[in-house]
Amino acid sequence: MLRSLLLRNKMSDFGLVHRNISSLIQSKGFINGSWVDSSNRETFAVTNPANGKVIANVPNMTADDAEKAVAAAKKTLHAPEWADLTAKQRSILLKSWYSLIEQNREEIAKIMTAESGKPINESLGEVTYGNSFIEWFAEEARRIHGEVVPSPTPNRELIIMKQPLGVAALITPWNFPLAMITRKAGAALAAGCTVVIKPAEDTPLTALAITKLAVDAGIPSGVINVVTTNKAAPVGNVLCTSPDVAGISFTGSTEVGKLLYRNCADGVKRISLELGGNAPFIVFDSANLEKAVDGAIASKFRNCGQTCVSANRFFIQQGVYDKFIDLLKTKVAALKMGPGDESSVQIGPLINKAQFTKVSAFVDDAKKQNGTIIAGGKPRPDIGELFYEPTIVTDVKAPMKLYTDEVFGPVLSIIKFNSEEEAIAKANDTNRGLAGYFYSENVQQIFRVARKLEVGMIGINEGIISTAEAPFGGVKESGIGREGSHHGIDEYVEIKYLCLGNLKY
Ligand code: NAP
Repeated sequence: MLRSLLLRNKMSDFGLVHRNISSLIQSKGFINGSWVDSSNRETFAVTNPANGKVIANVPNMTADDAEKAVAAAKKTLHAPEWADLTAKQRSILLKSWYSLIEQNREEIAKIMTAESGKPINESLGEVTYGNSFIEWFAEEARRIHGEVVPSPTPNRELIIMKQPLGVAALITPWNFPLAMITRKAGAALAAGCTVVIKPAEDTPLTALAITKLAVDAGIPSGVINVVTTNKAAPVGNVLCTSPDVAGISFTGSTEVGKLLYRNCADGVKRISLELGGNAPFIVFDSANLEKAVDGAIASKFRNCGQTCVSANRFFIQQGVYDKFIDLLKTKVAALKMGPGDESSVQIGPLINKAQFTKVSAFVDDAKKQNGTIIAGGKPRPDIGELFYEPTIVTDVKAPMKLYTDEVFGPVLSIIKFNSEEEAIAKANDTNRGLAGYFYSENVQQIFRVARKLEVGMIGINEGIISTAEAPFGGVKESGIGREGSHHGIDEYVEIKYLCLGNLKY
């Protein structure tokens, strides 16, 4: 069966499958190759944040369902239809999945915009970006090399091999409903793991849609399992404590990440955490200001500011401050806000009421502490309940929430600085360290600052930096491990050392 699927995929360049949006929307979870209801029959509604309308109802799955999903993934890990595949065969299956996602990109983007509120052009961009991880890891699957190392004693060969980690549980957020899954699942499947995916409550439909395409691509039953729920804690508890789960990969808030880290301690589970940031964006006097403003807009307002690598605090050097603010105000005023399915819209709604309340509270807190609102600063109930204007706040300082915490919304917080040392000290004055950005045309300064910023990723004269080829991840409380790049596979393999002794040469 698998052989014929692999052959069919090869022969037909992975086949042309066209589906309309309704056939990709699934209203069941997925365990052991079957679309299933929750064991208690409960469902929950997935709504469109632009207008509050229900898009679909999905199963509100339980700890029991999570256990079934883990059992299916565990059984499949050693089943011949998965365990006996060569790296090349896994690569072919991943390429087939990639191809089907590509062919259905518009339908997937429509689902994503409907459930996340993301402008449609950004959703299309996310399909390209997210799918690039499947393509990348399809290629990497064939390059998970071992080593033979020279022995210090005679008549021995020392061999290092890499084997699949086991069952990997993948817990993902709503802000990138496709890419956060493919960045993990692509690497896990390439390495030969099986997975249990727990998508965010707000955006399970994109996850289920790409799972449907994984089935069509011929990925065997039990390799991918999806547990939809709005009761994350009991499901998360099973994933963290089951002895049959070898590792957890989580993307989301630092608070939940710490909880999962603690819950995994007893089982000494492998854990990979991609958590929140508090990214500095520094504009030095030597910067090209046009480029810096464009980078600031791109980094801040993508996905309505709900991006973990979004710049959170903008440090602008005194000499270019006034000019930077003028240029910025003009560009922010031109941003178009509205429902994401209108093609010209650049700023959609916030994802849910909790996010909306948080963003409003952060701006109100800055107002109370003498922050100055120079653009926006208000909700837009005339467009919809969850819309908040693109906002610029100046005179931001500690202990304003906008300074100390990640706003995760369309608010650009500005801090004036004098010296390079001051900018670096303030940029590093946080327990987060995901991404950072700076603009400078001075090569000496570029290397000095790049070495000193305490973050995992830096954009230098660039506001958008993520790509499948580069390692994504943070330092400090922003996480553990890296996703994407050839390092991304490391999270899903075990290293085994073989010592062959008493050889006769
Ligand atoms: P979140 O509340 O931490 O949720 C993330 C995921 O964890 C969701 O699937 C959520 O389920 C689940 N979850 C919540 N409580 C859980 C528990 N007790 N046990 C197991 N799973 C649990 O984060 P969010 O609000 O969705 O996302 C925003 C945060 O994620 C921001 O801080 C952002 O910086 C960070 N983020 C980081 C990256 C990165 O790569 N570093 C990327 C994107 C986002 P429910 O949806 O059902 O609550």
